[in-house]
Amino acid sequence: MSGGVRPKPQRLRPAVPGVLAFGANLGEREATLRAALAALDSVPGIRIDAISPFYETPALKPAGVDHEAPAYLNAVARIHTTLDPLSLLDAVNAVEDEFGRVREERWGDRTIDIDIVDYDGRTSSDDRLTLPHPRAAERGFVMVPWLAVDPDAVLTGHGRVADLAARVTDTVTLYSGGAA
Ligand code: ATP
Ligand code: CA
Ligand code: CA
Repeated sequence: MSGGVRPKPQRLRPAVPGVLAFGANLGEREATLRAALAALDSVPGIRIDAISPFYETPALKPAGVDHEAPAYLNAVARIHTTLDPLSLLDAVNAVEDEFGRVREERWGDRTIDIDIVDYDGRTSSDDRLTLPHPRAAERGFVMVPWLAVDPDAVLTGHGRVADLAARVTDTVTLYSGGAA
């Protein structure tokens, strides 16, 4: 070949699989979850592969389950992403901001929370990002929807999601208006 402008070699990162957990307990929970999922899917470098059914769970506060607080709708999404882990966290934080997340007290009520449960099976403990999510294994509202979208899933350092989901103690109920 001679002459002409050659395209620059592209150094794209390969897409890696990840798992995100969503929770909402204020406002139009179902609409917010769907809109947040769509917003993330439209971020360059993030593709949503599968969305779990939606589940309803009582609010968990530092002192325990709070039946006075509005209940959560929870879901899990399987993704592929070309973003590095911290860029993925920036993207989920931006979507939380877009949907009115206010950060006040720990585990306070919120319009939307998006956690990175797993990023390509990696472990890390950065100031901003712990992988896998350190509290996912004991949360039914994460394990049960994850199992629904991936029966063979494994949580790095903890084992099969099927076994973890069988062990959780929180109450997770399939939401009748759930995802299609
Ligand atoms: P929990 O982490 O117990 O589910 P939370 O979701 O209510 O609690 P947030 O206030 O949303 O907590 O997040 C607190 C901080 O957690 C964020 O600023 C973020 O930097 C950090 N963080 C660490 N690891 C992760 C992760 N795997 N996914 C999302 N955020 C994480
Ligand atoms: Ca969370
Ligand atoms: Ca969070």
